[in-house]
Amino acid sequence: MPRPILATIDTEALSHNLRIVADRLQQDAPGASPSIWAVIKARGYGHGIEAVLEGFGEADGLAMLDLEEAVRCRELGWTGPLLLLEGFFEPDDLDALVHYRIGTALHCAEQLAMLESSAVAGQIDAFVKLNTGMHRLGFQPHEFRAAYDRALALQADGVLGQVGTMTHFARADDDAAVTRAQIDCFQQATEGLSGPVSLCNSAATLTPGLAAGLAAGPQWVRPGICLYGASPFADQPADSFGLRPAMTLSAQLIGVHRVPAGESVGYGHTFRAPRDMRVGIVACGYADGYPRHAATGTPVTVGGVRTRLVGRVSMDMLAVDLDPVPGAVVGAPVVLWGQGGPSVDEVAAACGTIGYELLTAVTPRVPRRVL
Ligand SMILES: *Cc1c(COP(=O)(O)O)cnc(C)c1O
Repeated sequence: MPRPILATIDTEALSHNLRIVADRLQQDAPGASPSIWAVIKARGYGHGIEAVLEGFGEADGLAMLDLEEAVRCRELGWTGPLLLLEGFFEPDDLDALVHYRIGTALHCAEQLAMLESSAVAGQIDAFVKLNTGMHRLGFQPHEFRAAYDRALALQADGVLGQVGTMTHFARADDDAAVTRAQIDCFQQATEGLSGPVSLCNSAATLTPGLAAGLAAGPQWVRPGICLYGASPFADQPADSFGLRPAMTLSAQLIGVHRVPAGESVGYGHTFRAPRDMRVGIVACGYADGYPRHAATGTPVTVGGVRTRLVGRVSMDMLAVDLDPVPGAVVGAPVVLWGQGGPSVDEVAAACGTIGYELLTAVTPRVPRRVL
């Protein structure tokens, strides 16, 4: 029997979450709501490209980073738009963009130069990216018009197809004033330009009324994390939006024992039993992607009952407090996060990170079952 750990991917939850987002946008702007790029970078936030393609069949487009992931989408039968959020990296990538009809972000002069000196006549769809203050990718506002004009010249030469504009928000999850300033910067720099625009990540997409006011013409939003059933906001749980977890990480107890009061558990003896207690050993550790820095107290469910992790997470195992679950024996089901357990966001909060990191960190040795 394989080691009892499993990541279950619920494609119905993926479709459900996409519908939730589409419905919210529709309510905000009836009849004129933005199109949705489902962001599937990092192998669909750790869920697997095959599974997310099944779940996001109704998305208007798919956005990712790796050319390889984009090609995989075509091979699996996706015929809609694809967008590379970091664009291409070298001239050799361009043939694949043309061949597989993959759109690209254009964020630096080097990319424009590669297109200008290439022989492709492929009508590649592009979004010219503006840096509105996050200082990650994109042209500075003062460089933007010149970059955009070069893109238009490439369009006239048949190298590019549609030319749109895009930016990315730094604090859509926690500071509306910063987002407002980024929007003002975007609107100023792109004034008078036509073509589609794309600004909103999950946090902006879920902010009521925000996307609705952003563009007179066609708009694309780019939600990622919320489509997987996790929240982009530290203070608003995913289920408050009606979102459902798409990944459930589960395992089993492979050992149960008594720890006398005063004895300590695990590497470094970081947890000392305050009384005689029962401790369960779970077949999940940091080599499965569970965070090693999850401290005593991190929530977990055993046999459907919520309890806590105790002691240090080791490579292949972790320990849990079985006092709330007196009936639990070897083989009892454990949910680390997802349906029937704590949310991935709760686990992330307990170890000082975000759900994004935990979902994308589940390692290849964990078997995946797609529902
Ligand atoms: C990751 C990413 C997104 C999606 O962000 P979420 O917070 O997961 O919604 C959108 N746009 C860009 C450019 C990204 O890198």
